[in-house]
Amino acid sequence: MSLMFTGIGVSRGIAMGPAYIYRRDAIEITPVKIAAKDVPREVRRYNAAVKSARMHLMAVRDGIPDSASEDVSAFIETHLLMLEDSVLSQRPVELIKQHRVYAERALQMQREALTNVFAEMEDPYISTRIDDVNHVIDEIMRSFSTAKSTGRSARKQQTDWKGMIVIADDLTPSDTLIMQSQGVAGFVTETGGQLSHTAILARSIGIPAIVGVHNIRSYIEQGEDLVVDGDSGTLLAEAEPEMLTGFKRRQKADRQHQKDLTQLIDTPAITKDGVELSLQANIEVEDDIKSLKRVKADGVGLYRTEFLYLNRDDVPDEEEHLKVYLRVLRALKGAPLTIRTVDLGADKQMTAKDIGPLAHNPAMGLRGIRLCLSDTTLLIPQLRAILRASARGPINIMFPMLTNLQEVLQCRALVESVKDALRARGFKFDENIQIGGMIEVPSAAIAADQFARHLDFLSIGTNDLIQYTLAIDRIDDQVDYLYDPLHPAVLRLIRMTIEAGKKENIPVAMCGEMAGDARFVRLLLGLGLTRFSTPPNQLLEIKRMLTTSGYKQLQKQSKAIVDSESTERQLKLLQKMNANATPTLH
Ligand code: PEP
Ligand code: MG
Repeated sequence: MSLMFTGIGVSRGIAMGPAYIYRRDAIEITPVKIAAKDVPREVRRYNAAVKSARMHLMAVRDGIPDSASEDVSAFIETHLLMLEDSVLSQRPVELIKQHRVYAERALQMQREALTNVFAEMEDPYISTRIDDVNHVIDEIMRSFSTAKSTGRSARKQQTDWKGMIVIADDLTPSDTLIMQSQGVAGFVTETGGQLSHTAILARSIGIPAIVGVHNIRSYIEQGEDLVVDGDSGTLLAEAEPEMLTGFKRRQKADRQHQKDLTQLIDTPAITKDGVELSLQANIEVEDDIKSLKRVKADGVGLYRTEFLYLNRDDVPDEEEHLKVYLRVLRALKGAPLTIRTVDLGADKQMTAKDIGPLAHNPAMGLRGIRLCLSDTTLLIPQLRAILRASARGPINIMFPMLTNLQEVLQCRALVESVKDALRARGFKFDENIQIGGMIEVPSAAIAADQFARHLDFLSIGTNDLIQYTLAIDRIDDQVDYLYDPLHPAVLRLIRMTIEAGKKENIPVAMCGEMAGDARFVRLLLGLGLTRFSTPPNQLLEIKRMLTTSGYKQLQKQSKAIVDSESTERQLKLLQKMNANATPTLH
């Protein structure tokens, strides 16, 4: 009989594959037998874990202070030598092949064998060396997961997640990125909400994901075959064959739909009544440019640069920023690039730098521009690099998390002082670089007219705007039920921002997830929004919705949705509005 678990579907699509139970602190080993085809993968995982353990030990050795006794480094050297010994470097690989087990299980078997050998030794000195063996084995074991206690991140381990459904308590954005780069099939987490950065990342990279499936790790076994339905937020174990057939059919229909959408790539982005649209893409890492180009987006509306700061032990300097921005510019071939200055804090924590004392409420604490203005050493190298890159292609600067006009003015002054410094050193840059601000705090939306007078463009960040307007933590699944982009307060703030931009004659875009949600984009167009920045893989669906609608016709309908006092009526109106092009959920 199949088992069904429900959570919050945060990234659409169906994924099928074996479970990979991911524990960041501990490793659970199940003696599940793996398929013969998976043996090479487990061998690769084992070798990668040994390599990662070696790198860690070498880093530890190099960090030993001169004042420490010789014995300390000798101890680490011994462990490094043991790591090279065939009992640890070769034998587990043979066990994987012989017994068809996961790499962790093979290492566990070898631990048991070695323990027995050492126990039989007469010499008390030699028999105590089993402790060293165990330390080295633990080192390898920890390399299979993110071992927070040793300060290592998932990037430094080389686990192969290809085709796997990762089941975790939670995933950091960095875990998510690394797993994606290795071809993970789907994500299921025990915690997290619609707007957690992990959810956003999963959507942006197009990997089916469900969050908030409480205690799921107690029910699923390593390697068990699973189906993730990101549309309905259900996870299935032991699915019946006829159910699997149904899922496969849906997967196929989905692929067909995606294929059909590609016909829109060269269609002009214009409404039926001739209103021109700007459809840009959000990117997190350089590699996203490839997907952006596939859908021929009109440039980058949001480059989340904080990902340059994650998974590393130091902070990127000006030259590193510059190199990345120049590469992105080159890849964009003249299309505009909006670089958001680093937005760290809350659920995007850096390992390299301690971001102050732990706040009770990090989402409301020192994050985004607040953090950067409190310590401009974080921001100045980035601003210098952005400005220097602006000499080579069209770049806009965008500041996140603005709360008051004071911050806007401080940011502008900082840009001016960086320009002065660059001028003095003879660097070239775009003197008229456009400076924009994100509207993602309710105070900024309410005072959007003032912001609009001091900025060159605005971009609405609905993820945070919704979180702060409705007082719901975007990563807390317990309050996810309150998440409501149709809440009249949210819609009014959006409308106020669009109108403020019109009044002051500056462009207003939206780069929050709502702009990439096909259910809402006609409503937004009806409110006067014509600039959308969405994850690349959602852009064509948004294009389909917008280019098949007429702006004038939507205006009245949108007003009725904003003014409505009943959610039921809002949904009915929305359904009517979307009737001729049923949107696929994101
Ligand atoms: C937003 O808040 O809507 C946004 C785009 O920024 P982020 O999701 O990176 O906080
Ligand atoms: Mg935000």
